[in-house]
Amino acid sequence: MNPSIWELETFYRKRDVIIVGAGFTGLWTAISVKEKYPERSVLVVDRSAVPIGASTRNAGFACFGSLTEVISDSEKMGWEKTLELVKLRLEGLKKIQNDFKADEIDFELCGGFEIINDEAPLQRIDEVNEKLKSITGLTKTYALNQSKLKEVGLGNSRFLIENSIEGSLHSGKLLQKLLEKCQILGVEFLLGTEILDINENKNSVKIIAQDFEIEAEKIVIATNAFTKNLLPEIDLVPARGQILLTGPIENLKLRGTFHYDEGFYYFRNLGNRVLLGGGRNQDLKNEETDSLDTTDFLQNHLENFLKTVVIPNQDFQISNRWSGIMAMGKEKSPIITKVSERQIAAVRLSGMGVALAPKIGDRVAEIL
Ligand SMILES: Cc1cc2nc3c(=O)[nH]c(=O)nc-3n(C[C@H](O)[C@H](O)[C@H](O)COP(=O)(O)OP(=O)(O)OC[C@H]3O[C@@H](n4cnc5c(N)ncnc54)[C@H](O)[C@@H]3O)c2cc1C
Repeated sequence: MNPSIWELETFYRKRDVIIVGAGFTGLWTAISVKEKYPERSVLVVDRSAVPIGASTRNAGFACFGSLTEVISDSEKMGWEKTLELVKLRLEGLKKIQNDFKADEIDFELCGGFEIINDEAPLQRIDEVNEKLKSITGLTKTYALNQSKLKEVGLGNSRFLIENSIEGSLHSGKLLQKLLEKCQILGVEFLLGTEILDINENKNSVKIIAQDFEIEAEKIVIATNAFTKNLLPEIDLVPARGQILLTGPIENLKLRGTFHYDEGFYYFRNLGNRVLLGGGRNQDLKNEETDSLDTTDFLQNHLENFLKTVVIPNQDFQISNRWSGIMAMGKEKSPIITKVSERQIAAVRLSGMGVALAPKIGDRVAEIL
């Protein structure tokens, strides 16, 4: 199909910046670029009618990170990079709270909690707090909170560590608000448009879709777990996360966002229901996929975890099951880099993109 002159001069005209991917990274980037350079034209393109990447399929933790996760990160990539990542998340969380009213995105500063069953991480709590002090401004970023264990019905667990920075939100509502903000700023959209390739030469760069091409001065690739088709060399692997949600539970005591096993398991209340996800480490090879199916093996495993750890002694029914795809790599830090003269990649947001994406947008706008 040949595009008409009308299409070529409007929808498919050259833009200053094209962003591929309308998840949190793409949308925060579009906002940052428009705020920094209001005169530049910005087009966001996504393959789905509704952006159905990780951003709309996650657990809705406004994630700061748990004690064991920070310890594990520091062991894998050293304190400097770990602290940099913590700072990025903290600033991202502040930006979310600054830009949107709590009731617009169901944001609740409920605190983040981690179940710990062995004492080793507890021995390091003071050391970690000392490292984080300059970033959070708190003497005790993490603190033991044993009274909460009983209060929220986690009686089968030994220790509970609290951080007061984490919150929960409604990922769908956040994405919708970002779309609204983009529209107010004059960002244009082409949804339902898969980008098959990107061609760059000395004078410009263009996205190639099934029926048309669009030129740009710069392209930002914000396709997270689905980036390999466009940038085969990039260091990332897809990692599926599976989730289940219970129906309403009478007298549910659980309140807040909870982590277990270095963040491999996560659960929270959604009103009087429980959302539980994770367990990927039980079936790592099969979960290294970008298929959005759920598997009986992991769903049964999660149900069992729900029965034994999260809501022992309470009847429940499962009302929803879904999965989403994260992007992981050798390192946990996101990739924010110029891949060529006119292309920037902002990908690999691991399991913490809600908090990371707002500041990644700012960084990309700076690189542009
Ligand atoms: C199950 C699960 C639970 C999670 N829980 C949390 C949590 O509680 N807290 C937290 O902070 N993070 C969580 N995460 C991680 C977080 O959701 C991600 O880090 C974040 O959403 C990544 O945003 P993104 O915009 O980079 O990627 P995505 O949201 O995946 O967006 C990428 C977009 O690119 C589009 N796209 C891909 N290829 C193309 C193409 N060729 N052409 C056009 N468009 C394309 C896709 O349609 C998609 O909309 C979770 C993730 C999962 C999967």
